[in-house]
Amino acid sequence: MDIATGLQLLAQATGIVKDLRDIDKGFDQAALKAQMADLYSTLADVKIALSDARETIHDRDQQIKRLEEKIATLSSGEACALCNEGRLKVVASKPHEHFAFAGVQTRSLKCDNCGHTEERFHDPSGVTKRGR
Ligand SMILES: [Zn+2]
Repeated sequence: MDIATGLQLLAQATGIVKDLRDIDKGFDQAALKAQMADLYSTLADVKIALSDARETIHDRDQQIKRLEEKIATLSSGEACALCNEGRLKVVASKPHEHFAFAGVQTRSLKCDNCGHTEERFHDPSGVTKRGR
């Protein structure tokens, strides 16, 4: 059950209470008992619906937290292609052997989780990509 169902049941319970008020004026004991039983069972369903909704919200919160962590991993440094959990951090850089004049560097990246290392060109002006 979800919040919408809970609200629907609550409206139903409110309707029963209204009926009970009307019965109260006529003192019909049997009808009163039947309506009370109805009210209790509807309120029990409301309780179930709301606790289900609370669980759903809790699950969503957990999911949002996981996604936020993943976004943080992906946006601050490149995600490791091997373990998919760590981030690749630059641990060394040196001028590129042919394109150093254009500011190109060869960078060594190391995963902060599994220790995997990779070499990358740091090419801010895109000089090694031109003409390909
Ligand atoms: Zn890794």
